[in-house]
Amino acid sequence: MSERPRLYIPRDRGRVSQPWGCVDTHANEMTKESNGLSDVSQPEPVEQPTRDPEESRRTSCPRCGSVVTGDETTDQFRVCGACGYHYPESARAAILRLVDQDSFREQDPELASTDPLRFVDETAYRERLLTLKAETGEADALVSGFAQLDGHEIAIAALDFGFLGGSMGVVVGEKLVRIAERARDRHLPLISISASGGARMQEGMLSLLQMAKTSAAVQRLREAGCPYISILAHPTTGGVFASFANLGDIILAEPGALIGFAGPRVAEQIIGQKLPEGSHTAEFLYGHGMVDAIVDRREQREYLARCLTILSAPRSGYQRRGHTFRSPRHGPDVPAWDAVQRARGARRLTSMDYLERMLGAFVELHGDRSSGDDPAIVAGIGTLRGKAIAVIALERGHLEERERRHDGRPYPEGYRKARRVMDLAERLQLPLVTLIDTPGAYPGVESEARGLASELAGSLARMSTLRTPIVSAVIGEGGSGGALALAVADRVLMLDGAIYSVIAPEGAAAILYRDATRAPEISSKLKLTARELKRLNIVDEIVSEPNPATDVDPDAAAALLVESITNALAELQRKRIGRVLRERYDRYQNIGRRHAKRPRRRLAFPRRKRVVARPANTG
Ligand SMILES: [Zn+2]
Repeated sequence: MSERPRLYIPRDRGRVSQPWGCVDTHANEMTKESNGLSDVSQPEPVEQPTRDPEESRRTSCPRCGSVVTGDETTDQFRVCGACGYHYPESARAAILRLVDQDSFREQDPELASTDPLRFVDETAYRERLLTLKAETGEADALVSGFAQLDGHEIAIAALDFGFLGGSMGVVVGEKLVRIAERARDRHLPLISISASGGARMQEGMLSLLQMAKTSAAVQRLREAGCPYISILAHPTTGGVFASFANLGDIILAEPGALIGFAGPRVAEQIIGQKLPEGSHTAEFLYGHGMVDAIVDRREQREYLARCLTILSAPRSGYQRRGHTFRSPRHGPDVPAWDAVQRARGARRLTSMDYLERMLGAFVELHGDRSSGDDPAIVAGIGTLRGKAIAVIALERGHLEERERRHDGRPYPEGYRKARRVMDLAERLQLPLVTLIDTPGAYPGVESEARGLASELAGSLARMSTLRTPIVSAVIGEGGSGGALALAVADRVLMLDGAIYSVIAPEGAAAILYRDATRAPEISSKLKLTARELKRLNIVDEIVSEPNPATDVDPDAAAALLVESITNALAELQRKRIGRVLRERYDRYQNIGRRHAKRPRRRLAFPRRKRVVARPANTG
């Protein structure tokens, strides 16, 4: 099968997710008209969408003030052509902008609220709904249906902030659940676009409970193996952000969007403190690991198309090919200390070098949805020889990039992100490939405080029962528990120039000899080269390298690795997953088993004579 054209080169991770200028003030700017509501679940008043494209062309940009007349970008995407400000947009406009032309088939457009509480404040709720229907043309705040995106059939739902602040009442909940259930029946991906203040006060507790109702439906969809992509537009807060919008397998945010559980003014009132600038923005959440990417509206369709291309690719069908290279097993062993130097060499290829050459399309996923995003672990979904896989790779980075990736030493959040991608791989039946290259997990106090050991243990346990084939390749340095935590696999490959060790030789020398300079001497005793580990059955296959330690001919190096990985996957996918899991369990139980034995000969020290107490009244 031919590889699809390369849609995304993973080296440039920053581009799609890079926040662009002056967004911090932008969110505050947009809510300065707020009048300080005190209900967290209710929408804070934010600028109403301008529905008429003509109008947005006439009015000046609220951020940069420029009047862009006849600008195509403003018309098509409702984004300021000068500064990139994202104008509010209606639900229908958001859907039509994303999907293929004339492909949208709306579902349940007529569903409307019966006003269950007979709610009246300044005006009757029933009256208000009728007025809004006349103004917006929508019966409630959610538009949903089926469509095609870049030729892929999808289910899609969007919230309309112009309709009572995009608040979630019984109609929004019901429509979302219906589209999620239909997507599940037809095994389609679901895409949602949120712009909402949360629950709808006028429908009381019936409204709050939509959080539980929608979350359950979306969870059922995910468990059925249907991908769910959630886009957070400006603003997404309250009960929508804290329910279905936050359950996306992939979560995107629009640049500068105000996002948070409590709107900033409400939060300030409740906690009685001023919030730091930019605390409720898409960029803040991205920095704290809550969203996978910040994607400009102009790039969203392309991003979604790439995700759908990967997710719709077949999972299996790899062909086992004969190796085209001489097995390195039979060459002379490299002295251990040379192997260590070589594995750590500055010019040695890193995970990203391999991934760029191995994968067709690739979407990197960011963040652990809990505290941060660790650049020492790259995780995502992609295609390998035209088939979909999940990837987790330890990345130490080259030269100036090394510092940003803290030398490839992951923090706990890195392993949490990895676990998130493992779960995704299992749900979506994606084989998992991991690339190992790390001196070890980051040992500082921050790591301990955030639960490093717990994450390592969790990863070991999760991989041992993950219901999808796993192939791991040690490509550089396999440093201790931080490496093993991502290398529990059905097949463990190791590049000929890589090392894999219980501890760094310097550490071993410091502990055993109290002298780190004796690392070269101890490195040969640790048995850390590929060939020694093959003899100990720790690794299953050694992958040869055209030029160990250097980046000369990276394409050839990647081709050899791809060959070994796809051969392993071809073999694993011939078996039922139950058998793969049993064999994985046995594989690890057998490691070291034959070296843990009762000694045959008596030990050298004299055994004490066994004294058997005899009962006095016998014999
Ligand atoms: Zn502007």
